[in-house]
Amino acid sequence: MSDNLPPFMNDESQSPPPIDGGGSFAESMGAFGKMLKIQEKISDQFPKSKVPWSETRKFLKAHDINSIKSTPLYKFHMNLFKKIGLGDMQLVSYAPMHYIFAVPNCPVCSLYPALENQKVCVATSDALHRFFTEDLELECTVEEIECVKDGDKLCKFKVDLQPISAYQIMLDSYDKRILHGERPSELDEADIQQRIDTLTVYKLIENGKLTDIGDAYLQYAGNVDVEEKEFEPPWKKEEELAEIASNKKTFGAAFGEMAQKVQNESDTQQSQSQSSDTQTQDNESEKTNEAKEESKNSQSFAELFEKMKKKQK
Ligand SMILES: [Zn+2]
Repeated sequence: MSDNLPPFMNDESQSPPPIDGGGSFAESMGAFGKMLKIQEKISDQFPKSKVPWSETRKFLKAHDINSIKSTPLYKFHMNLFKKIGLGDMQLVSYAPMHYIFAVPNCPVCSLYPALENQKVCVATSDALHRFFTEDLELECTVEEIECVKDGDKLCKFKVDLQPISAYQIMLDSYDKRILHGERPSELDEADIQQRIDTLTVYKLIENGKLTDIGDAYLQYAGNVDVEEKEFEPPWKKEEELAEIASNKKTFGAAFGEMAQKVQNESDTQQSQSQSSDTQTQDNESEKTNEAKEESKNSQSFAELFEKMKKKQK
């Protein structure tokens, strides 16, 4: 009976036939499953990851690698890609409007055991493109410029921003007034100078004067009126949860404090009752002793609270 089965179904000790001369069928199927998982996570996470312009602006205005890396958006981006399964990405090179990200030990490469001498990390390039265009609203092109599968040390991805879309988000109303030659009196000198430096880095101003690019942008911006949407950045919720978790640790201490307070109030009542009418003294001290005992014995905040309420009636 078993003789009639196809060979790779009845003989498990023998390797299934290789596909394309390298990489087994099982490996290919495993890789396919992993790739599906990455795509699923992208579909799940990206719609929840829209970033407000105010945060993207901080990222765009940072113009050296260290200050870019310290923006909340950069940290969020790197965590998100790691969570999705695209590896430990990091910024390795920067020029205005151009970012090069590298992934050491790129997990996407290992999904293509059969492929050599080519760049294979399309999943990462696509994810970068989707993140920048959909979540940051920055038009861009993304290219894998180096790949481990192509004999390079690391997989590297170059993101080139489309200038108009970057300017649109980067420049706020003060920057536009500065481009028009104003020095907004609401801002202090240091702030104005910092903005001029950024506008110079982005070639909108040169030696304090509007460049051709700056002029072209102002003409364009004068014709479109885009309203900036304001909403919480996607990492806000995570920060709030972390805060709640750290507060929880001190809940015990807060409860202890509350119990102590009830006890102190009882003590005060007791000393007051001692100085009052001798006829009520016994009754009062009985009551305070009772409260003391209860605050000691109460197991939870809710229980203590209920008892305090009853006492007040
Ligand atoms: Zn690669």
